[in-house]
Amino acid sequence: MAMKQFKEFPKVSLGVFPTPIQKLENISRRLNTNVYIKRDDLCGLGLGGNKTRKLEFLMADAILKKAEIVFTTGGAQSNHAMLTAAAAGKLGLTAVLVLKKRGVTACLGNQFLEHLMGTEVVFVDTDSYDDIYREMDRIGTERGRPYYKIPCGGSNALGALGYVECAEEIRDSGLHFDHLICAEGSGGTMAGLALGAKLFLPDTRVHGMMVDTDPFDVITPRLMTEAAALLEADVRITDGDFCLRDMCGPGYAIPSEPGNRAVRLLAAEEGIFLDPVYTGKAFAGLLAMAEEGVFRPEDRVLFLHSGGAGGLFAVGT
Ligand SMILES: *Cc1c(COP(=O)(O)O)cnc(C)c1O
Repeated sequence: MAMKQFKEFPKVSLGVFPTPIQKLENISRRLNTNVYIKRDDLCGLGLGGNKTRKLEFLMADAILKKAEIVFTTGGAQSNHAMLTAAAAGKLGLTAVLVLKKRGVTACLGNQFLEHLMGTEVVFVDTDSYDDIYREMDRIGTERGRPYYKIPCGGSNALGALGYVECAEEIRDSGLHFDHLICAEGSGGTMAGLALGAKLFLPDTRVHGMMVDTDPFDVITPRLMTEAAALLEADVRITDGDFCLRDMCGPGYAIPSEPGNRAVRLLAAEEGIFLDPVYTGKAFAGLLAMAEEGVFRPEDRVLFLHSGGAGGLFAVGT
């Protein structure tokens, strides 16, 4: 299909790619299928995580637009905000994190890492991202320096390209997967993977495990369509291109019992640490699908480990 190449987009190098794909031998035996894990938690910026692939495109765009200050937002324990600060430091830019005050915790986890990096963090007592983006404009204007705003989770079309490219990376591994499973928090990762699967992995079903209560049935195809437009890829996005499953439990960033069990299971049997906010809940979704008999013994299931180590030390399980 005629479409733009990833290398036609400005991109900075922040991580080490391709990330490894490993088989989870003990989990595979336990579930009577073949479970693999894509280690985006090992991608080499900060403590790793999925925001790195998005930031390679987003930070390049910020630099292209001559920004000196990069703003982003999220919750108090946002992995995305922490990685944006890490990327900014590496690239000689100033990060200002404008975070939601709700759920503010002590200087633990990602906030501790921000403390180590000397990151400027501003808390706004609001639930509305409009208030947050207004505050960014106010600070940016006050400083009189060119600035760039990255949305929550880096989840716009440009950020999602990072995960379209990840699907191409999975294809290039030469391994075939029947199912690809990831956490869905702000939507860019899932939208990128679902579009990427449509382009590069046509026989792989992509499942987004929703860990927040936003309308992902609307957000996912919208981001897929916007990312396809950036790539000038001639595809028609339909609801059949992705599957969603609600794994949020008691609420966003509030640990769930199935999620915590999944965190402990992977820690005990595979020596891999998931996190309670995203990957633990997403892996609990994989376990539930296995329980329901979705996977055949010969199937290959790939779970995206999207990081989150910082949050593990603040949220607990
Ligand atoms: C942000 C995040 C996700 C969710 O990705 P989105 O693109 O926001 O949907 C999953 N896992 C971890 C560890 C994250 O930090």
